[in-house]
Amino acid sequence: DQYTRNKLGSKKERTLALIKPDVVTKIGDVIESIYSSNLIVTKAKMTRLSWSQAADFYMEHQSKPFFNNLVQFMSSGSVVAMEIMGDEATSVWRKLLGPTDSAAARKEAPQSIRAHFGTDGLKNVGHGSDSLDAAARELEFFFPSTIGHGPSNTATFTDCTCC
Ligand code: GDP
Ligand code: MG
Repeated sequence: DQYTRNKLGSKKERTLALIKPDVVTKIGDVIESIYSSNLIVTKAKMTRLSWSQAADFYMEHQSKPFFNNLVQFMSSGSVVAMEIMGDEATSVWRKLLGPTDSAAARKEAPQSIRAHFGTDGLKNVGHGSDSLDAAARELEFFFPSTIGHGPSNTATFTDCTCC
């Protein structure tokens, strides 16, 4: 499942951190911020989404005026998908990213990743799942479980050995 417990019994969430094509060369800075926030990277994959894969991933926005631009952008270059884990990982990662619009991020959250590395309201460095349900669905999108097709690759971190 999405939770694992450390020795003190505190709940760890798993969530998706997706680095968008605009900053894929700055992945090191982003990973540093992740570790500085007490989250760890438990899976990582660099890939390139086709137009239709990007459209599937952002299905919830299909009726928005920016949908075509978003899908075009997300399929324009490599992305890095990471499963990250830690206390309240979903909200911690979204807070680390900052507001959706990079200009707003520079005003409202100057320490955030989007404030530092974002360009505008579209090219904004990263994606974070906005709920635990979304995290489960989006992790499955990038890291499909192999249950029923040999050993599962989703149970690797059931017991957190790092803390
Ligand atoms: P997020 O959860 O903070 O990433 O924001 P949303 O779920 O609302 O939007 C998904 C992504 O669509 C954003 O991260 C942006 O890349 C893009 N996006 C959102 N709103 C706008 C907008 O008003 N204009 C443009 N061009 N892109 C947008
Ligand atoms: Mg969103």
